[in-house]
Amino acid sequence: MQPVNPPSPPDQPRLSKSKIAALEHCPRRLWLQVHRRELGQFDEATLALFQCGHYVGELARHRYAQGHLVTEDHLQVPAAIARTQELLTATIRLPIFEAAFERDGVIVRADVLEPDNWGGWRLIEVKNARSIRSYQVRDVATQVWVIQGNAVCLSAAFVRHVERPLRATSRNPTVKFIDADVTLEAQRLAQGRQPVIDQARSVLEGGEPDTKPSTHCDRPACEFRKHCLGQAGLTIVGSSL
Ligand code: SF4
Repeated sequence: MQPVNPPSPPDQPRLSKSKIAALEHCPRRLWLQVHRRELGQFDEATLALFQCGHYVGELARHRYAQGHLVTEDHLQVPAAIARTQELLTATIRLPIFEAAFERDGVIVRADVLEPDNWGGWRLIEVKNARSIRSYQVRDVATQVWVIQGNAVCLSAAFVRHVERPLRATSRNPTVKFIDADVTLEAQRLAQGRQPVIDQARSVLEGGEPDTKPSTHCDRPACEFRKHCLGQAGLTIVGSSL
């Protein structure tokens, strides 16, 4: 199964699922992540939440009796993509964790790709969240757009979320997963990904966007609040930043 897309030209900046998500949250956030990354600073509570999210991702993997983890990291993208292709075309198909794909310079890592026993694959995004948020479905749509561009047959897409989100203070860290089928919505959104990706490139080619800080900065939490509020002559109330 060979990629149907040519590799991105060398002068085209690579994007990722999280960069596209940053754009859709706030164009200024994407710009700052790429051009002024050193200004980003998450508070301790948000960092603890990230750790819980990683732990929930591991738990989701451990629920499978068998599977392959693509261990190559973000500094080894070509090797991760090559390993993913090996696993996709293996005689015995098993779940793949952290499968890597590229389309038009956009890199994604899929939490879980599960064989559907009909020759296709189910895409699963794992979230430490009680309910599904619209930005999570857009994240799935970005993955669908990239993976389908690699001639992989995706038969379904799910957000695997939890009945009760895990927190650093949770006394009983048992996790019950719930699968939400987002196939139709993710497919619909995937058809509109190209303009979003074009917009991301356009934002990165320009100067720092003049987006004003507002309630959107906390949903989800943005690491540049201190910077943007400072520029606007404001300070964060009730935060360690
Ligand atoms: S703090 Fe708010 S305005 Fe600034 S980059 Fe983040 S989301 Fe955008």
